[in-house]
Amino acid sequence: MALVNTHFLNLQANYLFADIAKKVNAFKVMHPKADVISLGIGDVTQPLCPAVIEAMHKAVDEMATADGFRGYGPEQGYDFLREAILKNDFQPRGVRLSIDEVFINDGAKSDTGNFQELLHWDNFIGVTDPVYPVYIDSNVMIGRCGTFRDGRWTNVCYLPTTAENGFVPALPEGRPVDVIYLCYPNNPTGTVITKQELRRWVNYALKNDALILYDAAYQAYIQDPDIPRSIYEIRGARKCAVEFRSFSKTAGFTGVRCGYTVVPKDVTVANFEGERIPLNQLWLRRQCTKFNGTSYISQRAAEAIFSPEGKEQVSATIGYYMQNARNMLQTLRSLGYECYGGENAPYVWMRTPDGMSSWSFFEALLYGANVVCTPGVGFGPSGEGYVRFTAFGTHEKTDEALRRIQSWNK
Ligand SMILES: *Cc1c(COP(=O)(O)O)cnc(C)c1O
Repeated sequence: MALVNTHFLNLQANYLFADIAKKVNAFKVMHPKADVISLGIGDVTQPLCPAVIEAMHKAVDEMATADGFRGYGPEQGYDFLREAILKNDFQPRGVRLSIDEVFINDGAKSDTGNFQELLHWDNFIGVTDPVYPVYIDSNVMIGRCGTFRDGRWTNVCYLPTTAENGFVPALPEGRPVDVIYLCYPNNPTGTVITKQELRRWVNYALKNDALILYDAAYQAYIQDPDIPRSIYEIRGARKCAVEFRSFSKTAGFTGVRCGYTVVPKDVTVANFEGERIPLNQLWLRRQCTKFNGTSYISQRAAEAIFSPEGKEQVSATIGYYMQNARNMLQTLRSLGYECYGGENAPYVWMRTPDGMSSWSFFEALLYGANVVCTPGVGFGPSGEGYVRFTAFGTHEKTDEALRRIQSWNK
């Protein structure tokens, strides 16, 4: 008899975006003429830049020749891309890594979800709350989170990250966590972490022999030069942190699929004999068994982001989205709303007025202004009373949405 992995049955159905779609559809049925603008979903809208398109065409042409054809590539990715990453993403920030510490992937979601399988099932995980749901759900699948009660998992340490603490989560109190997920710039709050704050986390991890899983998918949106782009800018981090990066938000690769994970050779975890096991070797072993590499075409596309033209074009698109973020912050604040993030990240996190629940405000905005936002409570209990607006729309739609919110407020 084939038995199910019962941990999967504990997963809470992720209703967030389905619920949003259902409510939007109900609205559209009743108001067929209304033109609803979504500032909800976190996907990009601008096309790939010319340097990337050119590189992809070239890679396709190579694949069409006997000499240029590529089959399975290295599981860890091609050296041309790994070298470009070291040279462009890390060396300019003073971070020295070696090529075999970089693993190319098909986007950060896979690796942020999969990495936990290198760890014993009863490690205690900590997450900032609200949180990108992948971190918790992937741990639920292996039975690490306990049971779901009153909106939270009994074996997860939730670290509230709200306006009350300035979006600076406190270090865990009581039982130390073994594994901590950090995401900066943060999805959903759009807030960032200073070097000083990040240093507190690295020191906590070193002191408690904990592992930090650092998701830097939005690092390209950091405008302030003093904000760390990589956790390895902090001394000691290469002993306790794994970092995930993605070209999805950096360069519009959500449909192309390419990112990478950094596993320094100095990061180790203990076995029951107290010996230290390097995660770099284990991750390589895991990838060679379960992953057959990212497509050559996607990797050539990613390499092109680092060419002089590619860099210029990618930063123009990021500038385009950040213009939306500025407009959203300005308009929403002028209407008296309390807003966070949006300065070094493509998300604006807004407190709902008068203590309204996330979902009540979502509905009011939909019916009053025909604009869709994402209810903050969908990202965790501390997201209640907030909504998220994305800056990934076009200028035209974003500006129109803001005009509507303005007239709705009058
Ligand atoms: C979008 C996103 C990613 C990247 O996902 P990909 O699989 O690379 O497209 C990773 N982490 C967070 C928090 C994200 O929002």
